[in-house]
Amino acid sequence: MHIDIITCLPKLIESPFSDSILKRAQNKGLVTVNIIDLRSYSIDKHKSIDDYSFGGGAGMVMMIEPIDRCLEDLKTKRTYDDIIYMSPDGQLLTQPVANELSLKNNLILLCGHYKGVDERVREHLVTREISIGNYVLSGGELAAAVLADAVIRLVPGVLSDETSALSDSFQDNLIAPPVYTRPASYKGWDVPSVLLSGHQAKIEEWRHEKAVERTKTRRPNLLSNT
Ligand code: SAH
Repeated sequence: MHIDIITCLPKLIESPFSDSILKRAQNKGLVTVNIIDLRSYSIDKHKSIDDYSFGGGAGMVMMIEPIDRCLEDLKTKRTYDDIIYMSPDGQLLTQPVANELSLKNNLILLCGHYKGVDERVREHLVTREISIGNYVLSGGELAAAVLADAVIRLVPGVLSDETSALSDSFQDNLIAPPVYTRPASYKGWDVPSVLLSGHQAKIEEWRHEKAVERTKTRRPNLLSNT
């Protein structure tokens, strides 16, 4: 999988990809992430990428031309499955959306800033819009990092224990059951004895029960989806 992230603030998005699972995914050659500075496609020597909003009003708007030039350049190198604009009013990011995107080969994530991008970018240049929740961030970078993380960890081979992504919350419409590690007793707070029993079938049964119980109390809507 290859992901290109277009941003006017590259530094904001570098660190999530330079550590831990996302770094290992790249080192293993399973994923390549390329962060592109939109200012290098600017149309003037001041490297501007934004301008005042037609009709007035507070806040700058990201211009279409640098974005179009950048996308045209990227498209000479690969064919993209989706060009995604990170947007608060886009399709909500959920586990099924992450699952679907993890099957794609080449993606572009476009990060907005200020008031967002010129509407014509949304109408003509992107294929899809994704939101990480119903709240407004100051830029698309953190949203793009969240989306990329959710997707990359699902690419086969990225997680060392292949089954572990499958037992995460929201897969199978269930929340993950509680997990514990040593010590078995701390300040009188004991780990459920079934987990120490060594009886694998009983452990699995307990985990399933807890997952259902937790889903009923925390995300009952998931159960009505099944
Ligand atoms: N004026 C816009 C918000 C712009 S916020 C509005 O009211 O809808 C600036 C940029 O941050 C956006 O262009 C988008 O790329 C990003 N952004 C903000 N919140 C986001 C969210 N919840 N999900 C994804 N991207 C978001």
